[in-house]
Amino acid sequence: MNCYCCSGLLFSKCCQPLLEGVATADSCLQLMRSRYSAYCCKNIEYIFQTYHPGQREANSKDQIAEFANSVHFVGLTVSDWSQSLAALSGNSGSVSFVASYINNNKLETLSENSRFIFSGQWYYFDGEITASAALNIGRNDRCPCGSGKKFKQCSQHVISGALAAAEQQQRR
Ligand SMILES: [Zn+2]
Ligand SMILES: [Zn+2]
Repeated sequence: MNCYCCSGLLFSKCCQPLLEGVATADSCLQLMRSRYSAYCCKNIEYIFQTYHPGQREANSKDQIAEFANSVHFVGLTVSDWSQSLAALSGNSGSVSFVASYINNNKLETLSENSRFIFSGQWYYFDGEITASAALNIGRNDRCPCGSGKKFKQCSQHVISGALAAAEQQQRR
């Protein structure tokens, strides 16, 4: 299968070795892509462990899991990235990307300028996030995941929406 991160590469040649811990990212871009794939696979441990150690307290596994389990990522576009491992400019990198996901029958898009730090390996530090307005997905619209199916027939996505809606009802 093709990798979740939309690289066009096979999953086994792209993010899978990183998610399984048999390889480490050789660039901040690769780390960013693998974290996106981790959200797709609900690999909470990987997302947590690739936060910079100084940021883990503010990003608990529970918070990561709550977000990862309520959304379905359907697209990633990287617009810009750079990194520097020169001693003077400080082992850092940045990636700008746009990710879209289905959340409770809506299509949401977030643009993020994220920062990374290299300390033995690449870590995600933080990001400046701009979220765009959510778009309603009609039951008869094509599912934004690109499956070609109508949204109401794209089982995992409509189920996610239905479950999320049921949970919200329960909370009320
Ligand atoms: Zn990938
Ligand atoms: Zn779908």
